Amino acid sequence: MENLFLLLTDSKQTDLPNVYEDIEIIQSSIHTYLSSLFFIGKEGPYKYLYVYGPHHEIFGFESIEAYGEMGFDLYQCDLNRHNYEKLATYFPWIKPTSRTDHPFSFGLGDRLGLATQAHIPLFKDKDVFPVFAQQSIRELMLNHRTYDDVILSAAWSVFELDFTTGYGADGDHLKHPYEIEYAIQAGFPTITLDASEYIKNEFFALDHDQLLAKFNEINPVLQQDYRDTYLNHSFDLSDHIALTFDEDELYRSVLVYRDAIDFATDIYHDYVVPYHLDFELSIDETETSTSFTNHLFIANELARRHVIVETMAPRFVGEFQKAIDYIGDLQTFEDEYQIHEAIARAYDYRLSIHSGSDKFSAFPIIAEYSNLGWHAKTAGTNWLEALRVIAKNDPDFLREMYSWAIENLDETKKYYHIDATYESAPTLDLFKGEQVFDLLSRNDTRQIFHVNYGMLLNKKVDGEYVFRNHFFDVLEAHMDDYTNYLNAHIGKHLDLLGVKTKV
Ligand code: ZN
Repeated sequence: MENLFLLLTDSKQTDLPNVYEDIEIIQSSIHTYLSSLFFIGKEGPYKYLYVYGPHHEIFGFESIEAYGEMGFDLYQCDLNRHNYEKLATYFPWIKPTSRTDHPFSFGLGDRLGLATQAHIPLFKDKDVFPVFAQQSIRELMLNHRTYDDVILSAAWSVFELDFTTGYGADGDHLKHPYEIEYAIQAGFPTITLDASEYIKNEFFALDHDQLLAKFNEINPVLQQDYRDTYLNHSFDLSDHIALTFDEDELYRSVLVYRDAIDFATDIYHDYVVPYHLDFELSIDETETSTSFTNHLFIANELARRHVIVETMAPRFVGEFQKAIDYIGDLQTFEDEYQIHEAIARAYDYRLSIHSGSDKFSAFPIIAEYSNLGWHAKTAGTNWLEALRVIAKNDPDFLREMYSWAIENLDETKKYYHIDATYESAPTLDLFKGEQVFDLLSRNDTRQIFHVNYGMLLNKKVDGEYVFRNHFFDVLEAHMDDYTNYLNAHIGKHLDLLGVKTKV
């Protein structure tokens, strides 16, 4: 046993000899604490935590095998919640933390439970706070995962690859108190409240008389308060940006957003303050882009109620469709973006960019105006990069997946807004050889795969997964390809957003 200890400790300088024939020790995972040793080992396809040290230093782990000799114990432990919590008492950096002190943060959302491993090498070098764990409840359902699993897969990857500088976890697009409670229980330090169910989209279309009639239904004292606060008053946001409300803009802001602001205020007092959460408010799921006065009204109402948000996601002009570049006029985007940024800065929060994957033409604008801080989120892009690994290593299998996806496109389009159609998408006979790889760069193909990920991975015939097992087998056998593709792709995002390489 002591030999094992010495060999493992020495291994930091030299090649690690295989002490146990069937355990493949992952070198980057070897960590010491006082005279104890912790590492991840692989036995066949399975990974375990191994803990070795004097009994009094390491008791309390839940082991499946334990050996003891001369006061030293060796435990083989499952990568479960209990052992994660225990390990974090030695290495607190394996737990996710708040984004609060980091002006630049980037959400990654590992849909497959393998992407964090591939993301870590890139983020070791970049001056930006990574939010490795980020999932909405909807994504959990689609992928049959739990919040526990989302945190644990990120945490074990962080431990294994020695990522000691901290990472975040974002319970994304949470809509109900029970979803927030679920995220808190799993240990998410950040929540993104999606207030869309309280946003009254129907009031956007009303004319002046209709707005006034609705506004007059509100308690008269409140009406007067709104008028006094917002009319005949200039909101000076910066040296050269000032905004004013006309009557219709005020009425519309109040009618559309009042319930959402009340909801956010309740959530803030019930959960954000007591659990010390880092708070994002998302108002991006509306039918039209967020106007300046709408945005300013929300910011000012939250401030009047002493509700502190770290980040806010308005809906920007143009289209932020999943997995493809920005659609819309870039000059308009730039003109509007700087005003949203001025509002955020005046109220001391950062803008959050949702559906941020592949918005390459918009990133330089965001980098320029949000030079004091931003939060950006991507989600599906690591699934698409995983498909590149399949394209490279098993193109026929990707063709089978594509064949199923286009056959079901009409059904999928009932749930997702994408432009691709069965008629416009590449035909199946194009899907062979080298071309398969190129097809994954086309917007329509990307979108078709993007919206079908849950259905493809969960498709079953006679109780057996059709694609899932082989998909993961190919991906896990080619993790080096996956790391390369993801790092190149996400690296391009970070470069265009102006993220610096660590010195
Ligand atoms: Zn969003």
